[in-house]
Amino acid sequence: MPEPLDPFPPRGGRLHCEEVPLEAIARAVGTPAYVYSTGGMVAQARRLKAALAPFGDPLIAFAVKANPNAAVLATLFAEGLGADVVSGGEYARARAAGVDGGRILFSGVGKTEEEMRLAMAGGIFQLNLESVEEAETLSALASSMGREVDVAFRINPDVAAGSHAKISTGSAHNKFGIPIADAPAACARAASLPGLRVRGVAVHIGSQLTSLEPLEAAFVKVGALIAELRSAGHDIATSDLGGGLGIAYDPDLPPPPTIEEYGAMLRRVAWDWGTRLIVEPGRLIVGNAGLLLTRVVRIKPGPDCPFVIVDAGMNDLMRPTLYDAWHHIQAVEPNGRTMAADVVGPLCESGDSFAFSRAIDSVEPGDLMAIRSCGAYAATMANNYNSRPLTPEVLVKGGEWAVVRERQGIDALTRDERPAPWLGSAE
Ligand SMILES: *Cc1c(COP(=O)(O)O)cnc(C)c1O
Repeated sequence: MPEPLDPFPPRGGRLHCEEVPLEAIARAVGTPAYVYSTGGMVAQARRLKAALAPFGDPLIAFAVKANPNAAVLATLFAEGLGADVVSGGEYARARAAGVDGGRILFSGVGKTEEEMRLAMAGGIFQLNLESVEEAETLSALASSMGREVDVAFRINPDVAAGSHAKISTGSAHNKFGIPIADAPAACARAASLPGLRVRGVAVHIGSQLTSLEPLEAAFVKVGALIAELRSAGHDIATSDLGGGLGIAYDPDLPPPPTIEEYGAMLRRVAWDWGTRLIVEPGRLIVGNAGLLLTRVVRIKPGPDCPFVIVDAGMNDLMRPTLYDAWHHIQAVEPNGRTMAADVVGPLCESGDSFAFSRAIDSVEPGDLMAIRSCGAYAATMANNYNSRPLTPEVLVKGGEWAVVRERQGIDALTRDERPAPWLGSAE
């Protein structure tokens, strides 16, 4: 297998995104800035399409929550991917970015009636139910709208995903899905309700999985459930096996299973189910196609090693503080030397740290650095904490680049706030 394309090659000693020097982007849009490689995400989508091609017409539904930028979605939809959405906002974004309702899956544990109505009115491939109570609500709405909607129960297979607790979703104590033992009764109940067609089974056990074993264990249970549901008379036509395959964050650790190994495992387990295969990858497609470009503001001495203070913070990239996530950090123009440092952001929180006592490229104030693997669950989780405007996003394709989200203006921070009448005017 050829080496996967490196979206961020060093050329002439300076890091690029495809053919564009990161330094040129920083000069034009400032820092911090997210930079995404079209080639990087398209290459992953194509590898997955190739690995699943033996299944005929699988639905590869990109998990929009991983990176909902409209230009990113349009890039992936042009590759033939569908969308997995978890809110009315994601549904609207996916439609606006050009995907047909017939290629959208609606997942999520707390869909509101308004969200269900939106999806049914706009068109939906399948709605994944997470409880019998949700099925009852959806049935009443579908009937009142004169619709029939295809549904699948998301089952909780009670397997340990082996990833961080905050991104594990498939153990009995997680809020997601229904216990697999309850699935036959739940499907019988849903099938008896007007407006619902029980067409599939869905599972998603967690994210950043670095072993295929828990996935395979869950899928084997799904296969047995499909057989059981069919013998109970249900016409099971789809199997949604979720997302979750991990990516390499640390180049010095053994890499997670490849897309090709994942595809081979799916062929081994799901080949003879006779269902349309659905997968919902997020991180796998975009995670390593993005980075966060940041500039060193200042370096100050620390007890063991210096603090390298950069202009990106935990409001831009929450993963380190939220999940203890490890991100590779490098200088855009390395000088060949290294230093030990804590790499920290400017926010007034100790959790605003990206690396501790890490051997990094030696840097000085004003130098550009790249925080790698920031294409997924990065910009999408950004917030305005410490009244910091949201970071711009740049999409690169070959030698071209475009700002696909402007840097938020300071005015936007207070634009939606209103004075309380008793406070008088500020003048
Ligand atoms: C988040 C999520 C995904 C995507 O997970 P990745 O680890 O990014 O592949 C897929 N399906 C559901 C239901 C999700 O909640």
